[in-house]
Amino acid sequence: MPDWHPSSLVSKWTKQMFIDGAWRAGSGPTIDVENPATGATIGQVADATLEEVNDAVTAARRAFPAWASAVPRTRADALHRLGDLIAADADAMAAIMTAEQGKPRNEAKGEIEKLAEACHFYAEEATRVHGEIVPNDRPGFQSLVVREPIGVVAAITPWNYPAELVGWKLCASLAAGCTIVIKPAELTPFTALAIAAKVAEAGIPAGVVNVVTGLGRSVGQALVEHPQVDKIAFTGSSAVGLHIQRSCPSVKRMTLELGGNCPMIVTESADIAAAVAGATRRSFRNMGQICIAINRIYVAEAVYADFVTRLGTAADALTIGDGMERPDADVGAMASAEPLSKTKAHLHDALERNARLVAGGAAPEGAQFANGHFFRPTVLADCTHAMRVMTEETFGPLVGVASFATLDEAITLANETSYGLSAYAYARDLTEIHRLSAELDCGNVAINTVDAGIMNAPYGGRKQSGIGYEHGREGLLEYFNLKHVRLFHGVGA
Ligand code: NAP
Ligand code: MG
Repeated sequence: MPDWHPSSLVSKWTKQMFIDGAWRAGSGPTIDVENPATGATIGQVADATLEEVNDAVTAARRAFPAWASAVPRTRADALHRLGDLIAADADAMAAIMTAEQGKPRNEAKGEIEKLAEACHFYAEEATRVHGEIVPNDRPGFQSLVVREPIGVVAAITPWNYPAELVGWKLCASLAAGCTIVIKPAELTPFTALAIAAKVAEAGIPAGVVNVVTGLGRSVGQALVEHPQVDKIAFTGSSAVGLHIQRSCPSVKRMTLELGGNCPMIVTESADIAAAVAGATRRSFRNMGQICIAINRIYVAEAVYADFVTRLGTAADALTIGDGMERPDADVGAMASAEPLSKTKAHLHDALERNARLVAGGAAPEGAQFANGHFFRPTVLADCTHAMRVMTEETFGPLVGVASFATLDEAITLANETSYGLSAYAYARDLTEIHRLSAELDCGNVAINTVDAGIMNAPYGGRKQSGIGYEHGREGLLEYFNLKHVRLFHGVGA
């Protein structure tokens, strides 16, 4: 039986960063990393100094020309090796993630396996990037449109999916021929350091991948402002995304994958049992700490009462546990005190405005929950847009439900927030399905399913939910510049 005691898993990376192909002890202030299920400190990382950030960017710049000009097959082989190494060590990597993030180990392992899948997907895509030959206006000319990797990427990532959200940026960068400096979230740095260890094992050249730890406002901001960083690949809140856009002192490429307040619509024609199962999964998985979580649900009047009752029952039936000890629990602890207090604030605000509590509403009882950030999956009915839960991102295990009279009304309400990430709908009437897919104003629409994303389709938001795409071929193309080469060869002139 492997030793999955959290601190022994990560002690080798105490205050370590991965810069220019080597491990280096950070000289900045120490940051404690907490197990959110127990409150215990599992390890320490360092807040990188400006010099360390600069060394990482300099290493990435130095490594760029050779990596960019390597034949795509070389980069593909490296990504395949990386994917194999990650998959082979999925149990231990998952335990590290659970120890710092709180999600149950089985779910964490699924995320690690999806990271490995991303490595293989982008390995294959790496060999299929090509340009175009464009018709010209005069004989004797030829126009080539070619793709060239952008350069040095700074990846800044949140704590809710500590492996995948690093991985999409890492894999696309490696496939494209970019080099990368990763700044993981303060709460979940060890998953990123575990990925760096696999990068080293895979024999990826020094400087191509670097991981610096520390705070967003210091280390993240230093990357945003660094003149040698050519692209920012950011996933996080809309507020920080906007701050990055505003505070960046020079013109840089940016992809911003930001927050959401995702709606679900259930029409009278829907399969209600399927809709309830979908709502339960996508409202509460990862304790609702998903940018594409269902935050609010609009249900046709005729089926509203039935839907609300069944959703309450399903929410109450979810099992909650310490994700390390209960790998198969439905949900674990929330990642920190901050999203828990926001969840409670949204709950109290809605109750004050006469929402009806259907399930949850408090922490689970028992000594095993006393020191962790636990909360019961919570369902509120009779909600209105005067309540924060219906218009702001909660990012916790809370969902608001409201009834609607017409599909026009439901679509208007669904589109009425500043976000545009994902929307979900359950319906069996073809006209309803067509209107929902056409009229919901967001980057992803999932109909009769709540698994909105697949590896080979683009994923991204509109409005305050972001710019640019990850996943799919489109996610890879975000890492290239185009170049038009107009050539006079004279043949036929
Ligand atoms: P966050 O507070 O915006 O932080 C995201 C990252 O930005 C962290 O690494 C953070 O560092 C860093 N950061 C903070 N201030 C910075 C600054 N001034 N300059 C540069 N970097 C800075 O988000 P979070 O609380 O970690 O994550 C939750 C949010 O992410 C939610 O809004 C969620 O919807 C969003 N999200 C979006 C997607 C998507 O694909 N659209 C996916 C997942 C999550 P520290 O950790 O050190 O503060
Ligand atoms: Mg934060």
